[in-house]
Amino acid sequence: MCGIVGFISESKDTEFLLDGLKKLEYRGYDSAGIAVVKDGGIMVQRCEGKIVNLEKKLHDFAMESTIGIGHTRWATHGRPSEENAHPHQSGGIVVVHNGIIENYLELKEMLKSKGHEFVSETDTEIIPHLINYFITKGSGFEDAVTKALHEIKGSYAIAVINKDEPDKLIAARMSSPLVIGIGKDEYFVASDIPAILSHTNEVIFLDDGEIVLMTTDGVTVKSLDGAVREKEVTKIHWSPVMAEKAGYKHFMLKEIFEQPQAIIDTMSGRLSDESGGVFLSDMNLTDDELLAVRKITIVACGTSWHAALVGKFMLEETLRIPVEVELGSEYRYRDPLVGDGDLLLLISQSGETADTLAALHEGRSKGAKVV
Ligand code: GLU
Repeated sequence: MCGIVGFISESKDTEFLLDGLKKLEYRGYDSAGIAVVKDGGIMVQRCEGKIVNLEKKLHDFAMESTIGIGHTRWATHGRPSEENAHPHQSGGIVVVHNGIIENYLELKEMLKSKGHEFVSETDTEIIPHLINYFITKGSGFEDAVTKALHEIKGSYAIAVINKDEPDKLIAARMSSPLVIGIGKDEYFVASDIPAILSHTNEVIFLDDGEIVLMTTDGVTVKSLDGAVREKEVTKIHWSPVMAEKAGYKHFMLKEIFEQPQAIIDTMSGRLSDESGGVFLSDMNLTDDELLAVRKITIVACGTSWHAALVGKFMLEETLRIPVEVELGSEYRYRDPLVGDGDLLLLISQSGETADTLAALHEGRSKGAKVV
């Protein structure tokens, strides 16, 4: 889960979105994108990798606009790629989302049966389609977003814009942070304060189950059942650096305290309470291939290697299959005994650790299954 930023204003540059996304960079991300409405059309620009890639792309597309949203993605469903990067779109509806839609497969099937076509592997893409679906059935924009949120199970912070109603920005949250920034005749939305702190220090913290309609005249916060909520405006006195650390003295301390939520986020959408089932749709191994595994080798470097040492105990206890842990930098330079019946499990936060990738190619070329 990564970052969201958005604005509604008399006029702002795409630079505002880029700048906000850069302030959220510390949260980690694998791709980024923005959307603005201009002259009755929507411009969406996305790309894989670093924000500087997006910045380069925007050299040719920088523009002023009255409404826009931006996103940095930390992929949960679907690999990091341009097609999977946010914003996602259906007709004139454009959405950025942080979180996980747990029932996205069911909703995707339903929407496909009504003729909706999907172009990404993400859970997020169902959100703009669902909103669009309710609009085509006669709902107004805000009503359609509310109806869509009633259908969705999971965690979300979203910001939504609509080509046909460019004077409204709608945002909502459930188990994913979202703040609203109050400017002078302009309003902002962001997943964290640093993204907007240089524009305003007055914010409203949204609570779970709240939806906010933003126009240049003001913001209205409601619960999902339509009741208007009075919200307190908080003045932030943190410096930008303190804000990034959410008041903790060190990033490391912040990350330690975030671990329970990080674990919940990792598992959500992948475990079923009802059937006790586990869904690992990105694993690409059949049940038979998994049952044929005789030994697991976890290959990793640095912190991932330490996580692997813990994983070894958990996997051996649960699976009763021998598990070895290897350092990527050593594994790649010997002639490892690996082949049929072996499962190589590679851990890398960035997905780009060179030694770990070399181990992956080595294992795969010798006939091991690779995850
Ligand atoms: N689940 C969404 C995705 O994989 C959002 C991830 C995020 O929070 O950045 O695209």
